[in-house]
Parts: sequence; C-alpha cells; structure tokens
Amino acid sequence: MNAQNACEGFALDRRQASSHTDPLCILCGSWLAGDGPQSGPLGIDLQEQHVKALDQLTFDNRFARLGDAFSTQVLPEPIADPRLVVASESAMALLDLDPAQAELPVFAELFSGHKLWEQADPRAMVYSGHQFGSYNPRLGDGRGLLLAEVLNDQGQHWDLHLKGAGQTPYSRMGDGRAVLRSSIREFLGSEALHALGIATSRALCVIGSSTAVWREARESAAMLTRLAQSHVRFGHFEYFYYTKQPEQQRLLIDHVLEHHYPECRGAEQPYLAMFRTIVERNAELIARWQAYGFCHGVMNTDNMSILGITFDFGPYAFLDDFDANFICNHSDDRGRYSYANQVPIAHWNLSALAQALTTVIEVEPLKEALGLFLPLYQAHYLDLMRRRLGLTTAEDDDMALVERLLQCMQRGGVDYSLFFRKLGEQPAAEALKVVRDDFIDLAAFDAWGADYLARCEREAGNAEGRRERMHAVNPLYVLRNYLAQKAIEAAEAGDYSEVRRLHQVLSKPFEEQPGMQAYAERPPEWGKHLEISCSS
Ligand code: AMP
Ligand code: MG
Repeated sequence: MNAQNACEGFALDRRQASSHTDPLCILCGSWLAGDGPQSGPLGIDLQEQHVKALDQLTFDNRFARLGDAFSTQVLPEPIADPRLVVASESAMALLDLDPAQAELPVFAELFSGHKLWEQADPRAMVYSGHQFGSYNPRLGDGRGLLLAEVLNDQGQHWDLHLKGAGQTPYSRMGDGRAVLRSSIREFLGSEALHALGIATSRALCVIGSSTAVWREARESAAMLTRLAQSHVRFGHFEYFYYTKQPEQQRLLIDHVLEHHYPECRGAEQPYLAMFRTIVERNAELIARWQAYGFCHGVMNTDNMSILGITFDFGPYAFLDDFDANFICNHSDDRGRYSYANQVPIAHWNLSALAQALTTVIEVEPLKEALGLFLPLYQAHYLDLMRRRLGLTTAEDDDMALVERLLQCMQRGGVDYSLFFRKLGEQPAAEALKVVRDDFIDLAAFDAWGADYLARCEREAGNAEGRRERMHAVNPLYVLRNYLAQKAIEAAEAGDYSEVRRLHQVLSKPFEEQPGMQAYAERPPEWGKHLEISCSS
C-alpha cells in the first residue's frame, strides 16, 4: 500500500506526523512491504480473518445523519502521551480489524482523540433521564462522543464511542474526562459479561495518558472506546417526550425501529411490537444478571440501552458472598440499585420508557406489554438457575428449591460463584459433602441437600455428563472487585500486564486455565469491602 494514500484517511492529526521510513506505516498501521506478520499476537491466522487495517474501515454514520436536534458535533480533545493499556481482540474482530493493529502507535492515537478518520462525524448525543428516581431534564454525552458507525463485512453497524473525550455542551460541571481506573473497570466488566454470554456493550480498548484529572485525588485521564450497535438509551425518548418534540421523537422511534428492530416493522402495530420486544429483552437480560450475580450499580434510565444490553458501567460488581441486599455503589445510600432491587427497578425503568412512548402507543397496550416483564423474567431466571444446578427438566417446586438454597447461602455468607462450580465438580451426593463446609445453618442446608439430591435422582440421566454440563454454565473465573482493583493499581503504576492477563483469563470463564488458580479463589477479606462510587 502506498504510504501517501494509506494515511489520507485521517483528517484530524493534532501531532507532528512521524517519519514514514519504517517498514510499518505508523499513520495507517498497514504494512508497506508484503512481508508483514502472518499471525497476530494470539496466533490468529491473519490471512484468514479480521485482516483490516485501521484505514480500511467502512463508515456509515446513520445516527449523525438524524441531524443536530439529536446530537452536537464536537471534536475529541486529545489526552497527552497516549499509550495502549489493553485491547480486546474479540471486540476488534467485530470491526474485522487485524489484532496486530492494536500494537501500532496510530491505534493509540486514534482512540485518544489525536487522530480521526476523515469519514468520522464525532457527536455528543442529547438525552435526559431519571437518576435515582428523579427526572433530570438534560443529560447527554458529557464526556463521550459517538465518533462514527463502522459497517463490518457481515453488514453489521457498530458505534465507535469514545468515552473521556473532553467537554461537550452536555458536560454541565464536569471536566469531560474519564479516569484510568473507571475505564479499566468498564473494559473488564463489558468483556467479562460478554464472555459469560450476557448481552452487553463491548470495549475495544483503553488508552492511558499522562494528562492529570482531579477526582478525590489526582488521577490520570484515559479513554475507553466502546462498541455497541446503538447508543440510544431510554433517556433519549424521555428527552423528546418531556421537551414536547413529538416530531423529533417520531424520527428517533422510526430510526430505532428501522435499524434495530426491523423484525417488528411488519407487525400490525410496529411501535408496540418494538416496545414488547424491548420488555422481553430486558426480562432476559436482568434474569442473566441475577443468575450470575451481576450488580449494575446505576440503573438510571439514561444508562438503559434501547437494545436491552448491559450499558454504561459505573460502580458495578459481581457478588462475592451471596447477599440479596448487596449494594455495590457506595453513593447509593438507600440501596435503590441493590442486587435484589434490580428486577423491580428494570420494570420501573421500562415504565418510564413506556410513559415517553405514549405519544405513539396507547396506554392500555403499553401496560399490557409491561405486564409481560415479571413472568418472563421469572421464567428466564428459573431456567438459568436450573441449569446452574445441573437440572435438565422442570418441576413445580424448582423455584422454592432455588430460594431455599439462596437463603442458606445468605445466612452462611457463601461464595455465590464457587458454590455452583464446586457443586458441578462431582456427582451430586459427593459434591454436597464438599460444599456443606461453607454453610453455617447446617440443618437447613442438609434439608436442602436431601431435597436437591432427590430432585436429581428423579431426573433420568441427570448424572450423565453432569460435570461438563454444569461447568459449561458455572464460571470458574469471575471478575471480582478485588481482582479488578489489583489490576488497576498495577496499571496506575504503569504496569499493564495484570489488566491484560485478567482480561485473558476472564475471556474464557468456564474453562480451567493452567497456572491461573489464583484467579479462581475466594476474595481476601479486604477485597470484599471495596468502596466503589460514581466518581469516575
Ligand atoms: P454516568 O454516571 O457516567 O452515567 O454519567 C451521568 C451523566 O453525567 C452523563 O450525562 C455523563 O455524560 C455526565 N458525566 C459523567 N462524568 C462526567 C465528566 N467527568 N464530565 C462531564 N460529564 C460527565
Ligand atoms: Mg451514563
């Protein structure tokens, strides 16, 4: 590839262009000679798949084309001395990007605001939302920009969203920045959820910098590049509803219907069919969160994706010890977003969305669709929990069996993830003897164990393939807060190896990985009481 042409794609270059004498074009990242690497850092055959260079992406900025009523054009404000902290090879694959591109200086420059593709159209989106139950009329992207939409080879569109890109008209009192700590947390959280099979926005990379920002103390700024098929939130619809802009709202609804719910277009009432699908997707999503002990932390309606995916990570956590009342967000004084409250809060958020959609859908059918949430949630949750318990059939009392187990766990402070993993390690009778040691109320646990064993024995073939079946749904490695914390502390000291290792381990959570036993242990006592708050 000709170096001149290869570099033309980047319109914004805020730094001195480097020399082009290297065999590798550092502006576009493509190999100038034909003798580039044949395989990527993880041995993926580059000749076979995901071989695009950064300047070979195709863009189709559908949301930006909606116009200025929906977003404001803003250029990213670069952070100093950009350096790659971590990149996700599987997220890069969504853009058909060659994983080796992450190692190039231009990668860090693009995802830290120094360079920009000519075809990008960076925009801060406007939205509002209910924060901790109170309506905030104007939020919007205060520190993130939708850079562009990439159209991949499978015909999918992926938003490139740069978080921490500087101030926008929606920054209010904020500095427009994200700190390294929270960027790493979002990166690890989204990639770990994805590996668990839980729908989520994805994280392409984190770029660190020497730019200082102030939170409770001096920290360094970073940028996270998030991928999602849409960044439209419940709060987008609330914004147009409460500002009484029905025409713009209709445009947005049609946009989401056309691009994200095309299967609903043929329905008798397409908008209602779309809302019903949103309810269904949320019911399944929240069931997965609950079944895997994921606590979002800030389920404000501006943090709820219209796609029904996990979105806008704040002070999230995976449960260590089972605790239904666990509050992961230190700023959440009243536990509005506690683990157990996530179910009613999701329903509440859906009703806030429904309210905003009353401009195009009648109230009664909206209520009916909302009524689907709880039974659907319960069905998904029970299905997941049966699987986690190694059960392959359904019985009427299964929910009671699950609830009794959780009560025993709650009383004993039993590690939520390891319990299921250990239960699947051996045949039921033997496994029960092993996990028993972790419980305090042994009489209650023994009664539960006897019922569980009988339940397994009533199921023909339950013992067959039990270990494989259970290990395939019960992760050995979970993103515990203390693991993230250790990786963050190392990264803050300039060592990114731990973040990268943790990301690798969590990308295969169900598979035992040699030498990684330390990542599968219960947390140390200090690790259970980390205070994570909104200040990120
Ligand atoms: P979040 O808690 O990240 O969901 O953010 C809630 C709202 O505050 C959104 O409108 C964000 O864009 C905005 N926000 C959060 N942090 C900052 C910041 N450092 N600078 C400007 N706006 C911010
Ligand atoms: Mg948010």
